[in-house]
Amino acid sequence: MNRILITGGGGFLGSHLCESLLEKGADVICVDNFFSGSKDNICHLFSYPYFELIRHDIINPLLVEVEKIYHLACPASPIHYQYNPIKTVKTNVMGTINMLGLAKRIKARILLSSSSEVYGDAKAHPQPESYWGNVNPIGLRSCYDEGKRVAETLMLDYHRQNEVDIKIVRIFNTYGPRMAINDGRVVSNFIVQALRGEPLTVYGDGSQTRSFCYVSDLIQGLLTMMETEDFTGPINLGNPDEFTILELAEKIIKLTKSPSKIIHNPLPSDDPVRRCPDISLAKKKLKWEPKVSLEEGLMETIDYFKEKLSLKKG
Ligand code: UDP
Repeated sequence: MNRILITGGGGFLGSHLCESLLEKGADVICVDNFFSGSKDNICHLFSYPYFELIRHDIINPLLVEVEKIYHLACPASPIHYQYNPIKTVKTNVMGTINMLGLAKRIKARILLSSSSEVYGDAKAHPQPESYWGNVNPIGLRSCYDEGKRVAETLMLDYHRQNEVDIKIVRIFNTYGPRMAINDGRVVSNFIVQALRGEPLTVYGDGSQTRSFCYVSDLIQGLLTMMETEDFTGPINLGNPDEFTILELAEKIIKLTKSPSKIIHNPLPSDDPVRRCPDISLAKKKLKWEPKVSLEEGLMETIDYFKEKLSLKKG
């Protein structure tokens, strides 16, 4: 039996990963402290006999016996990771040390979900893995950006010093069903605002860009990366189709047929101007690239939020 630990398994990505692995017949241990994760994301998984939930905060050590660890735990939305920035750093540093210590002790393979945030306000475009980034070490986003950078450093140091079997994935903006209504990131904010007929809050002039990857594509990338041999990464996973935030707002208004207008709010500090993954390495090493277009993915996500907001007719 393939025993797998997923930290942050109650979160948006974690819960989809738990589900995919259970469907493949794995024995899944989901760990979450439910800071940003939710029981609603995973309660349907209790029908699988090999699903197990541990309520635990990974800044404290954990001992379980598994073959593989997907280390996803950390709030990923700026409003959530900035709510308690010291805790965000602890989760990335102490949490990653705890998971690497566990991997070392039980000889498990460990995959870290790092982030495109390690590139900061990138001066290279699109961003290849070889780019070292342009990160403010003392800003409001630093707890997450620098936290992920140290987490990557720890992964490589445990690999070099203790031969821990590691994989690093840099995840770019991902969206889809099971994002929380109050997630605070742009796709969920705009969809919820459009469905409620409220103004869509574009920060700044909306000319900043992001590239949005649908959750099923991302999960496929994580699963494929975990099964590679002799390759640690880091590797970018994301959708290379780039849109301005204003284009995204207009698209969501159109797809929801919403009467909502667009308003402009101040741009948060250190908000990256352009972000788009260079996925050449993922194409080469994993034979992976996203399949779901932004419109298709948005329609699925809109349906999810309609139901969640109990607005679905019929
Ligand atoms: N954004 C926005 N309105 C919102 C939420 C976010 O205009 O209600 C912008 C934000 O300033 C950023 C982009 O959308 O430029 C993506 O923000 P998000 O928080 O989703 O993720 P980030 O890529 O910044 O981590």
